[in-house]
Amino acid sequence: MILGALKEQSSREKRIPLLPASVKKMIDQGMTVCVEEGLGESLFINDQAFRDSGAQIKSRSEILASADILVRISKPSIDDIKTLKSGTVHLSYLDPFNDPETLKQMASHGLSAISLEMIPRTTLAQKMDVLSSQASLAGYYAVVLAASRISKAFPMMMTPAGTIPPARVFVVGAGVAGLQAIATAKRLGARVEAFDTRPAVEEQVRSLGARFLKIDLGETGEAQGGYAKQLTEAQLDKQRQEMAKVCAQSDIVITTAQVFGRKAPRIITKNMIMGMRPGSVIVDMAVETGGNVEGSLVDQDVELNGVLILGLSNLPGKVAADASSMFSNNITSLILHYWDKASKSLKFSQEDEILKGCLLASQGKILNEKFQHLQKA
Ligand code: NAD
Repeated sequence: MILGALKEQSSREKRIPLLPASVKKMIDQGMTVCVEEGLGESLFINDQAFRDSGAQIKSRSEILASADILVRISKPSIDDIKTLKSGTVHLSYLDPFNDPETLKQMASHGLSAISLEMIPRTTLAQKMDVLSSQASLAGYYAVVLAASRISKAFPMMMTPAGTIPPARVFVVGAGVAGLQAIATAKRLGARVEAFDTRPAVEEQVRSLGARFLKIDLGETGEAQGGYAKQLTEAQLDKQRQEMAKVCAQSDIVITTAQVFGRKAPRIITKNMIMGMRPGSVIVDMAVETGGNVEGSLVDQDVELNGVLILGLSNLPGKVAADASSMFSNNITSLILHYWDKASKSLKFSQEDEILKGCLLASQGKILNEKFQHLQKA
C-alpha cells in the first residue's frame, strides 16, 4: 500500500499533513510512504529529513496517480479527484456542508472520502480529533494576536511609576478554542470572563480561574456529540443584551461560537461595538463560517468607533509547526487504528462508530446519512 502526502497549493497555508516522525511510524507498520517534493519547505524541513525517515520523494502527479491512501490538509480540486485511482482512501478537511459538490465528485469517482471535520468527538477518537487539536492552537493564537494589537499590557503591574490594572478579556463560546483562549489569557495575567450556551461548560471555565457569565436563556442544552444547539432569535437577543454590558467593560473580546454544520451565530452587533471603549480589540474566530461579529471581514482589519475587529483566517496555520505536528499525529493515529499489519491493508467495517461519522463516501456511494440526499441530486 502506498501512502502519499501532498503539499498545499496555496502559499498562505504553511501547515503540512505529515511529518518525518509519522512517516517512520507508518513505514514500521509495512506501508510505503511517498511525499511530494518540497513537502516540508514551509516548515524548514528538507526532503532529506523525509528520506532519512524512509519516505520516497515523488512529484505531485506521481503521487496522485499511485496513492492508495492520500493525506493532505485541504480538500481536493476536481482535477485531483479525476486523477486519483478509484478506491483511494482520501483524508483531508472536506467542508461537506458548504461544498457538497466535492463530496459528490469524490463519491462518483469511487474514492473513500474521509472528512476530518466529521470525526466523532468521542473518547476513542480523541487522538484522531483534528478539529480539537487545531482549535486549541487557534484559541491560543487568538489571544496572542489580540495582545499584539492592543495598546495595553495583560497583567496587573504595581510599579513605582504607578499601578496598571489587568486587561479584561471576554471569551464568548467556551469549547475547545475558547477554553484554550481563556487559559492563555489567564497565563498572561488578564482578568477573564466567559460565556457559553452549554451550561456544562461553567465548571470548566471556573476551573481555569475565569468568571462564568450567567444568562438565563431558558432551554439551551447540547445537541448530539456535545455540540451547541441553535438558539432562537429571542434567545440570541437576550444573550446580546446581557453580553453588551460585559463587552462595554472589556478590553478584548474573543468570539468562538459555532453551531456544528450551520452558519455561526451573529452575537456581537454594531450597537454593542458602539458601546465598547475605543482602543478595544475584538477577535472574531468564527469569521470563516459567517462571523459572530457584525462587520467582521476575513483577513481584514475593520475599525468601528475606535474598536479594532480582527477576522484573521486559518489561525492554526499561524503556528504551523505545532499545528502540523498535531495534525500529523492525528491522521497517523486514524490510519494505524484501521491498519492490519498482516495483510498490509486498511480494514474498514461498516459498523465502526468512528467511520460512521467521518467516512462519507466509499465504492461510489455516499454513506453518511447527513449527505445521502446528494446521491439523489
Ligand atoms: P464548536 O467549535 O462547535 O463551538 C464553540 C463553542 O461555541 C461551543 O462551546 C458552543 O457551545 C459555543 N456556542 C454556540 N453558540 C453559542 C452562542 N450563541 N453563544 C455562546 N456560545 C455559543 O465547539 P467545539 O469546541 O468543537 O466543542 C464541541 C463539543 O465537543 C463540546 O461539547 C466539547 O466538549 C466536545 N468535545 C469532546 C471531545 C471528546 O470527548 N473527545 C473532544 C473535543 C470536543
